[in-house]
Amino acid sequence: MPILPTPPLLPPAIPGFYGLTRERLGERLAGQGVPAYRASQLFTWIYRKHQRDPEVMTNLPLAFRQEVPRLVDLSLPAVASHLCTPDGDTHKLVLTLGDGRRVECVSMRAERGLTFCLSSQVGCALRCSFCATGLMGLQRNLRAEEIVTQVLVMGDLHRWEDDSFNLVFMGMGEPLANYDAVMDAVRILHDPLGLNLGARRITISTCGLVPQIERLAGEGLALGLALSLHATTDELRDTLVPVNRRWPLRELLPAAQAYGLRTGRRVTLEYTLIADVNDSPEDADRLAAIARDLPSKINLIPYNPVPGLPYRRPTPEALQAFVERLYPRAPAVTLRQTQGGEIWAACGQLAGLGEGS
Ligand code: SF4
Repeated sequence: MPILPTPPLLPPAIPGFYGLTRERLGERLAGQGVPAYRASQLFTWIYRKHQRDPEVMTNLPLAFRQEVPRLVDLSLPAVASHLCTPDGDTHKLVLTLGDGRRVECVSMRAERGLTFCLSSQVGCALRCSFCATGLMGLQRNLRAEEIVTQVLVMGDLHRWEDDSFNLVFMGMGEPLANYDAVMDAVRILHDPLGLNLGARRITISTCGLVPQIERLAGEGLALGLALSLHATTDELRDTLVPVNRRWPLRELLPAAQAYGLRTGRRVTLEYTLIADVNDSPEDADRLAAIARDLPSKINLIPYNPVPGLPYRRPTPEALQAFVERLYPRAPAVTLRQTQGGEIWAACGQLAGLGEGS
């Protein structure tokens, strides 16, 4: 029985190139009488050399170059709007998909380098009570090519100056609710002839779909896993992250622990701090206890306000008190510097808010 039913998505007439793994592209080409090794050549031109015009692919026969647009769709989505913070470090792009729907992605430059935040769905069905995307409900899943092209558009924006960027699936949607498309996109991006991004540079963020966490652990990829925890008791988490009613902490935390042990990766516990909701000393103590039982690190995120929602960000003093309470008791704690709040690009704010044009 599907966990999260999604509206049907009709396949496009010409398959999108960016949603095909190299293997599947080879099969498609072979089905058209083209040698499968041309798939590797196309991958190299497009992902390694960032050339998408078949005319410049001079090691391919002219007849094949002319045939490529008929075999695969090489177009990128149009950029409907582009907002940038005054310091130039954060960009939010709104992309128009083939059916006219819009999806958002964000690039952030910080000390650890460039990070692209990707969306996996238009809207989201999980309706976390503090999240702007959850307010939209789910419109549809993204196809793999609609995920990969977010990376390409942001790479183009930065002129591919830095090939060692990080990817986080923390934009619109619950990535593990669109598992197959997300994993196809990951495999394309991870392919040595794709963007060759190491698994350590890719993080999947989930609100806690336990069966998919278990499946992800068996993929043999050791991707980063971020768990959107946000509460340390079922009572509160049932309210903030309603999917907790389906998979409560007693099921979720062992799944996260197993993921960490199987992949050798520490799980990131994402904890959005909301004033007078989950920022008490007792919350800090319970969070520390959870973190000690897992191979984990804690990422604290001061709440980013969303119009129409009743939540507030804790004061700087309250944030400091929470960190100090947590710090000696937990293995690793970071307090995320909010980036992009002024352009509605910060965590939990992606839902067409503040869209320019
Ligand atoms: S926090 Fe993530 S899973 Fe929850 S509603 Fe927002 S986008 Fe969906």
